[in-house]
Amino acid sequence: MAKTFDAVIVGGGHNGLVTAAYLAGGGLDVLVLERRPYVGGACVTEEPWPGYKVSTAAYVLSLLRREVVRDLDLKKHGLVVYPQDPPYFQPYPDGRSLMIWNDYTKTRAEIAKFSRHDAEVYEEYERTLNRLAEFVEPLLMMTPPDPASRRLRDLFGLLKVGRMARRLKEDLYEEVAILSMSAKDFLDSWFESEELKALLCGQAVIGTFAGPRTPGTAYVLFHHVMGEVDGMRGCWGVVRGGMGQVSECIAAEARRRGVTIRCDAPVERILVEGGKATGVVIRGGEEVRARAVVSNADPNVTFLKLLDSKRELPAAFTRKVEHFRAQGSSVKVNYALGELPDFTALRGSAPGPQHAGTIDICPSLDYMERAYDEAKYGSWSSQPFLEAVIPTVYDDSIAPKGRHIMSVFCQFAPYDLKQGTWDTEKEKFGDRVTEILTRHAPNFAASVLHRQVISPLDLERDFALTHGNIFQGDMTLDQLFFMRPIPGFADYRTPLRGLYMCGACTHPGGGVMGAAGHNAAREILRDFRAGSFR
Ligand SMILES: Cc1cc2nc3c(=O)[nH]c(=O)nc-3n(C[C@H](O)[C@H](O)[C@H](O)COP(=O)(O)OP(=O)(O)OC[C@H]3O[C@@H](n4cnc5c(N)ncnc54)[C@H](O)[C@@H]3O)c2cc1C
Repeated sequence: MAKTFDAVIVGGGHNGLVTAAYLAGGGLDVLVLERRPYVGGACVTEEPWPGYKVSTAAYVLSLLRREVVRDLDLKKHGLVVYPQDPPYFQPYPDGRSLMIWNDYTKTRAEIAKFSRHDAEVYEEYERTLNRLAEFVEPLLMMTPPDPASRRLRDLFGLLKVGRMARRLKEDLYEEVAILSMSAKDFLDSWFESEELKALLCGQAVIGTFAGPRTPGTAYVLFHHVMGEVDGMRGCWGVVRGGMGQVSECIAAEARRRGVTIRCDAPVERILVEGGKATGVVIRGGEEVRARAVVSNADPNVTFLKLLDSKRELPAAFTRKVEHFRAQGSSVKVNYALGELPDFTALRGSAPGPQHAGTIDICPSLDYMERAYDEAKYGSWSSQPFLEAVIPTVYDDSIAPKGRHIMSVFCQFAPYDLKQGTWDTEKEKFGDRVTEILTRHAPNFAASVLHRQVISPLDLERDFALTHGNIFQGDMTLDQLFFMRPIPGFADYRTPLRGLYMCGACTHPGGGVMGAAGHNAAREILRDFRAGSFR
């Protein structure tokens, strides 16, 4: 008789691995099945060109929960994160630039080039966001209570959230505003300089099919300032060895706790018997039996591809899954460079602060809005918003000596194109990105040794991200907290007994956070201990 695992996890993304490690820590016998040749999902390092270790998808770290880092001993397993300093550099085509430093005095002087008022209020803006983040942080690690339920657990959960909200006092108004406002309205309420607003707005649309004037984008901005590196809130960092190192460290701890991890093992079907998930079938026909199945994949893959939804799920639930929004919006362009960009706005191709921060190309909110407008009507943006990071400025282990890697995250790129397909368009998009960067750093085009363009279609094909949505589903108010992924099923359980979810499509959503994986494990262990697995 083949062995029956306590839990089989479909997908070895970082969240699937986190769930596996916590479940094994709770005494469960766990198997992880990953369809790709390596673990990590979108949090991965690959070697597209010999000698270059590229963070193919996710490229900077901040949101990873400190509880996960601590509980899974990630530092002991070799996780090293270099905080970015300065965090941001924005060159403008007319030769001016704006640098945001970790030091307020230096930042104030930079912002004052554009507005005295903004220079004065910037520190207060950051303080306010930090205070709000302190309120939201505990919510990230809790199972969202269902306000429509009468279960005691949900009622207590709601009470807890209410108590926390009361502690915010008048900041509560700002919190509610952030949830519902557009990034532009929110930033307008603080600042007058277009340059500063354009720089801050990048975080509001990352991974989101929305422009700065779209209601709800202020929350996306906030979501991206909730993390920290080494206790510095809002700070982002470069991971030594590439982002895959995060996943490898989690996998190492999972293995140490007894988890079996199999790569090149695509799950084709979730087995259902007597209204309960009882295992999976791997491509080729191998069956694996388990008391619980945990999906790290998105709702579309989990419910519509791996299950016979008509037979195995309630029709009303399936309808909601079909309408769960997961829109592609981004292209990632990875470069290998012979030398660093020599920006007209701040000269020099020896490593300098202009190379150490996240480099944003977005001169104004209108530029960003126009980029979105084109995508809204089915074309890729001819003047896209770009966010570039050069990890080799910090990490000498990922490229040959003297060479550099540059990750460029670009928007907007709709999954469905009015003309052509992503297979015919993506290199044209890549050429446009090279052209824009060369406009700001004239040596750029000539410095390119290799280029990799990853379209929304590639994200879907290679990473199983439906429509190339980088967060396994839009991060809009209607798909957050107790609404994520499906209202009534935000507690990591599903209508099918024995089937759980643990990926970014669940609360608290996208980003390399480990929170969804952590929370899912807590709920699964609760059921296991209550004996409801059998
Ligand atoms: C281009 C891009 C850039 C990003 N940049 C950043 C960033 O800089 N910082 C940040 O914090 N976040 C970033 N993100 C978001 C972040 O990477 C994701 O939200 C996060 O990695 C999701 O992790 P996950 O484990 O929940 O899911 P995923 O990473 O989606 O993992 C799911 C796993 O399930 C596997 N799978 C799916 N179906 C099956 C099947 N049938 N059988 C077996 N395995 C299966 C997949 O192959 C995958 O490995 C980015 C994402 C993308 C795509």
